[in-house]
Amino acid sequence: GDLLGSPGGGLQGLITTPRTMASFAPSKGLSNEPGQNSCFLNSALQVLWHLDIFRRSFRQLTTHKCMEDSCIFCALKSIFAQFQFSSERVLPSDVLRSALAKTFQDEQRFQLGIMDDAAECFENLLMRIHFHISAETREDICTAKHCIPHQKFAMTLFEQCVCNSCGATSDPLPFIQMVHYISTTSLCNQAVRMLECREKPTPDMFGELLRNASNMGDLRNCPSNCGEVLRIRRVLMNSPEIVSIGLVWDSDHSDLAEDVIHSLGTCLRLGDLFYRVTEERARQAELYLVGMVCYYGKHYSTFFFQTKIRKWMYFDDAHVKEVSYPRFGGYVCYLGSVCVHFHFVG
Ligand SMILES: [Zn+2]
Ligand SMILES: [Zn+2]
Ligand SMILES: [Zn+2]
Repeated sequence: GDLLGSPGGGLQGLITTPRTMASFAPSKGLSNEPGQNSCFLNSALQVLWHLDIFRRSFRQLTTHKCMEDSCIFCALKSIFAQFQFSSERVLPSDVLRSALAKTFQDEQRFQLGIMDDAAECFENLLMRIHFHISAETREDICTAKHCIPHQKFAMTLFEQCVCNSCGATSDPLPFIQMVHYISTTSLCNQAVRMLECREKPTPDMFGELLRNASNMGDLRNCPSNCGEVLRIRRVLMNSPEIVSIGLVWDSDHSDLAEDVIHSLGTCLRLGDLFYRVTEERARQAELYLVGMVCYYGKHYSTFFFQTKIRKWMYFDDAHVKEVSYPRFGGYVCYLGSVCVHFHFVG
């Protein structure tokens, strides 16, 4: 793809003003001592910090509903300040880890020392930020202009069944999602099917592949019971700036890893991802792969494209290294991940 092919190249990488030089801080690792099992949180945290849109918007936020020692907002503010100003190359994520554990104590999620899911952690961090800054608004109808989770990340969708045979339509079901989850089994089956009908992959193929894969197996009976079996239609009603795709492995011992990796694209057109996209801006949007969270050997690590230096970096808790394009491909194959979580930005 374009993004992977061009990092480091071009004039843009050479022109740096004193101001950007001064504000440039080298990437930092996050510690994960034995028994802490914090890699899922460290991955989510590296994603949030490295997403320029999130980092810059979050910096603008000042007031929030504070929850004292279980305040995820304060914990994030503190670690972001350390990311920017600390001279340490490895930072502890303990304050956020403990705020997260306290916040989700009743649900028994994200508890200290216990491994959890990076994509769900990422989603929940976003929902907590919403809570801290737009407490009065319900999650599913939030339109607060300063609410980064809903303004930048949320996909506002409705799903509906329309019967081509008898014309019946189901009531539209509106919902909001922060991560668009897709089964890897469906993804691989669809990739094979789509490649059979064309000569070579095209740029629109990845979005279409994800759409087909997420529709597969999602069949409903006609709402008027005429006997037809219908595919569900998902319509995107907003224009998110960051889209996260979560690939879900259907079993722990999948042999599909390599097939999945080969079917991944680095460019995603929002218009291809859903049955219909109502906003013109979203229809035109081309998003590029900027980050990837991989799960392999019961451990999460993160790849992220750092826009300031135009390079891909690899974050494995305390360890940070630059990965160049040819090696990047190798890394992904080697990871043979059980869960991949993508981030696309415009
Ligand atoms: Zn606070
Ligand atoms: Zn919100
Ligand atoms: Zn029907």
